[in-house]
Amino acid sequence: MAVMFRKCLRASVSPAADGNKEFMKIGVLALQGDFLEHKVILQKLGVETIEVRLPKDLAGLSGLIIPGGESTTIGKLAVAFGLMEPLRHFAREFPVWGTCAGAIFLSQNAKKEQPLLKMMDITVERNAFGAQVDSFEADLDIDELKKATGTDDPFRAVFIRAPIIESVRGNARVLSRLADGRIVAAIEGHLLATSFHPELTKDTRFHQYFLSLCKK
Ligand code: GLN
Repeated sequence: MAVMFRKCLRASVSPAADGNKEFMKIGVLALQGDFLEHKVILQKLGVETIEVRLPKDLAGLSGLIIPGGESTTIGKLAVAFGLMEPLRHFAREFPVWGTCAGAIFLSQNAKKEQPLLKMMDITVERNAFGAQVDSFEADLDIDELKKATGTDDPFRAVFIRAPIIESVRGNARVLSRLADGRIVAAIEGHLLATSFHPELTKDTRFHQYFLSLCKK
């Protein structure tokens, strides 16, 4: 999967516009998965980026991204490195964004036994679209993203063995749905979950949107 991630990215990242420079430190959980791709986009946006592997790496961050990959592996490694409680503590105070496996890891319920942060009041269904070969792309109209970035284009979303956000409760709310109504992005306060991978496209708007949450 890592090779595929990197291939997609090489074809797609564009240089950042000067106006995108942000002076804050953002962490990317670097236990497994496509953390490098997030790092590349953040760096293009002029943001200092830290790879987070141990609790001490969370110090001084304004936000954290949990990448796509394999949520069971990310969870088991987070347990092994003593990161579960520090990550929960961090997520109570600061913005955290999970993409794909990261969204699963943030969820309250993934309907199977695996380590979860349980920070977002959402239930996810893993691999809801089938296997790797069933990966697809779709254009999403995300009003909040358009508003936050002052743009009007749909967002081209990449789905790779993606989860569906089956339900959203409490303070969590839907940010985006597929044309058939299935939920693929949700937000709960400063916590963000996307079933898809903005880090694998040349469109930096989702990262800019997340940075706008980190600035608040
Ligand atoms: N299917 C993976 C999981 O359940 C997520 C895939 C991805 O992050 N692209 O963890």
